[in-house]
Amino acid sequence: MRTNQFDINRERMVEEQLIPRGIVDAGTLAAMRTVPRHTFVDDAMGYKAYGDHPLPIGSGQTISQPYIVALMTQALGLTGSEKVLEIGTGSGYQAAVLSRVCDRVYTIERIDSLLVRARRIFDRLHYLNIISRIDDGTIGWPDEAPFDGILVTAGGPEIPQPLLEQLADPGRMVIPVGGRDVQELQLVTKQNGEVTVSPIEQVRFVDLIGSHGWAD
Ligand code: SAM
Repeated sequence: MRTNQFDINRERMVEEQLIPRGIVDAGTLAAMRTVPRHTFVDDAMGYKAYGDHPLPIGSGQTISQPYIVALMTQALGLTGSEKVLEIGTGSGYQAAVLSRVCDRVYTIERIDSLLVRARRIFDRLHYLNIISRIDDGTIGWPDEAPFDGILVTAGGPEIPQPLLEQLADPGRMVIPVGGRDVQELQLVTKQNGEVTVSPIEQVRFVDLIGSHGWAD
């Protein structure tokens, strides 16, 4: 597929999948219009990259549906100056979108081959404000805490306590919580020492595996 066709498909994705479903944040929409999603999937799947669905990325993992990426990004309420932690780098696409709307993104992945691939794409696109590591993301990144925003892109049974502790005050976390088949996407807000949890919508994510998630 020619590059300008990808550009056309990306604009159509924003107009048909995001705006009608309530994505209104200017920064989020600009990032979704800019980041070349087709770069984050295998070449053979490039023509499906702007469809209204998740796609496989290998190792049994997925790149999330564009709408879910936009919804989670918008829910963080970023203004450009924040330090954000993402758990579950996967293809790298969500981290790339975040990197356009905040100051620095720290992203953790547990599967080595996925992170190696994502890092190559960040380098190719010159997305230099993304810092990544291999680890169990449910324990967070204590050396770099606190984070103004935390975004978890895999579903676990509960909100990992280390992530709550590493969330800045004020700060926002977006995380799918629930069973292995279906979860509730939750917005967790910390303000003046108080934590508030509010539901966003029902979602289906792959497992968050780790010491504060599901067992491997
Ligand atoms: N954000 C990704 C993207 O834009 O492509 C989508 C990620 S995929 C839905 C979830 C990812 O979370 C998988 O790559 C999986 O390996 C990773 N994961 C699961 N448990 C994890 C953990 N404890 N720490 C870090 N990554 C984890």
